Amino acid sequence: MRLYKTIKDLTVLLKNSKANNINIGFVPTMGALHNGHISLVKKAKNESGLVVCSIFINPTQFNDPKDFAKYPVTINDDIYLLEKAGCDVLFLPSVEEMYPERLKTDFKFELGYLETILDGKFRPGHFQGVCQVMDRLLSIVLPDKLFMGQKDFQQCMVLKKMTAVNFAGLQLIICPTQREIDGLAMSSRNVRLSKEERQRAIKIFATLQFFKTNVKPGDVTSIKLSATNSLIKAGFKVDYTEIANAESLQLMDNWDGNEPLVFLIAAFLNKVRLIDNMLLDR
Ligand code: AMP
Repeated sequence: MRLYKTIKDLTVLLKNSKANNINIGFVPTMGALHNGHISLVKKAKNESGLVVCSIFINPTQFNDPKDFAKYPVTINDDIYLLEKAGCDVLFLPSVEEMYPERLKTDFKFELGYLETILDGKFRPGHFQGVCQVMDRLLSIVLPDKLFMGQKDFQQCMVLKKMTAVNFAGLQLIICPTQREIDGLAMSSRNVRLSKEERQRAIKIFATLQFFKTNVKPGDVTSIKLSATNSLIKAGFKVDYTEIANAESLQLMDNWDGNEPLVFLIAAFLNKVRLIDNMLLDR
């Protein structure tokens, strides 16, 4: 695996690959890699001639400075895992490389409704930061395929919208959420959970399954309330427990029994914020 810290050096390699018609697959990450990230790299490896992974903890997408300061960094382990997974290129830029002073960064991405709900509502500015870094990374890497995890369901929708406008022709491939044996979605933030919190954290997966088993056409407000209450009882501070249309992300209080559904949860265990979601497959 080749490692690049500057855009200039990376661009030389990428231009060469493009000139040779090599299909580029891109996996953007913030590091502290786990098997969820690695599943994306492996999928990219199967579907591309050259796999580029980036590790960049993007300061502009953290609405909470403490969350940014505590974000885990495990670069040596990350390099080992990426090499083992067959990643071809690691892009590891500094903040100055990504956001030089001369770069114009004050434009706003038109995300509409998507930015007003769920993580858009509870993490103000988060998706603007995500779009900002993705716009920059995609302009540098110019991949044919972009691999993202369903774990961040709303982020996938935001990027679908943003890339359709700014990167027409780019294929967005959404990969399934990888879970621990007990169901907890893999996340870089899980290492910040204490042993006791780690055990309690599986309640999120259990609540998603509760949604899946119990949702019925008609009023869904009471099932949402039950889900919220059971998480509160288990010691979570809940941002949301929601049911939405899986294509539009329109939140719903009533289900017609036909609309495709996604259940979404965001909740804190002490200082650690966990998110997860599940599709209703029918
Ligand atoms: P992050 O490093 O958290 O920004 O995540 C980088 C990419 O990995 C994003 O596309 C995430 O959705 C994806 N990802 C994170 N956790 C998982 C998981 N448990 N399963 C699959 N993909 C994941």
